[in-house]
Amino acid sequence: MAAAAAAAAAAVVPTPPGVDRRRPRRGGSMEAGRERLQDDGVRTLTSAEQTKVEDIVQEVFDVYKTNHHDSQFLLHRDKHFHYLKRGLRQLTDAYECLDASRPWLCYWILHSLELLEEPIPESVASDVCQFLSRCQSPSGGFGGGPGQHPHLAPTYAAVNALCIIGTEEAYSVINREKLLEYLYSLKQPDGSFIMHIGGEVDVRMAMEEAVAVTPVVALEDYCSDTVGYPVGYHSNTYWVTSRQMRFEGGFQGRCNKLVDGCYSFWQAGLLPLLHRALHAKGDPALSMTHWMFDQQALQEYILLCCQCPAGGLLDKPGKSRDFYHTCYCLSGLSIAQHFGSGELLHEVVLGVPENRLQPTHPVYNISPDKVVQAVMHFLKKPVPCPKEESAAN
Ligand SMILES: [Zn+2]
Repeated sequence: MAAAAAAAAAAVVPTPPGVDRRRPRRGGSMEAGRERLQDDGVRTLTSAEQTKVEDIVQEVFDVYKTNHHDSQFLLHRDKHFHYLKRGLRQLTDAYECLDASRPWLCYWILHSLELLEEPIPESVASDVCQFLSRCQSPSGGFGGGPGQHPHLAPTYAAVNALCIIGTEEAYSVINREKLLEYLYSLKQPDGSFIMHIGGEVDVRMAMEEAVAVTPVVALEDYCSDTVGYPVGYHSNTYWVTSRQMRFEGGFQGRCNKLVDGCYSFWQAGLLPLLHRALHAKGDPALSMTHWMFDQQALQEYILLCCQCPAGGLLDKPGKSRDFYHTCYCLSGLSIAQHFGSGELLHEVVLGVPENRLQPTHPVYNISPDKVVQAVMHFLKKPVPCPKEESAAN
């Protein structure tokens, strides 16, 4: 969208102090600033698909405008809650293919529930703890299910799920010493990580894992040489702000892809991190009330195009709901609603006040309170002393 492009451009063009050129300026209505794809008369498979999606989204917007004269965007909280609650106990056959991702399912559901401020009954929480402890390998990492090989991705999901539960029982599931040993066993001499023993280096996930388990294993040294690489903040900002779709308002995964609800977190979640990094560098053009994307347009996309009427959220109109998209659509919605941290907070909640979700921590993607709670809990414990010599063997 024009605002996103303007925001992105402003990120690389020097801006006079005090002039906020990065703040999205799309305006306050559903009409303002929306731009359809211009294919310059060259129709390709990609442009045809994009036009098709824009037509469907246009239809959704039109139906909404016909039925609602005064905009009252509504998050169907109860429907989503029931869908999630059911999923914690029983899954349909469609989830059979995710048998190696069961800690992920726990995390997606628990995080969605915490965003909706729905408490998890004690007995359910305890059952999840016991289930995840069965997924933990004697070598310290977590597998995708009981008896499966440990892998960094479900390890991240399991640790997050346990920190969301946040009880003594949950924390005690994590064998920190073994977990640390396991992480060292995956670390390569160049600072990268393999995802599992015998696996390939995967920069995207390995970075995330290393950061995500840091509060649990209390390891500043461990991560400092992996996350300290210089980052091109401005080019990153340009790239990510350009991923917000000019017509739909949601985000795409990369150039020439279609909008997808889950990128509401994968892309928009990067902007709080970039904001903080640019702020730390003393950038005078940064807004102190808004992230560098159109927060309202993203909320419109999620609320109008990504909600399944029966509960749960989805990629785009016409797709099926699932727990993964429910988690990341809600996470993105939360990022779009809450600017800032600490004393600098500014909320932009589209629609009725009841649409407000809990804030989420952009690094860990669990509630900031739960991050603090976990850090405080593990700080009281002695730091594990792993056998580092096993690294990269
Ligand atoms: Zn998706």
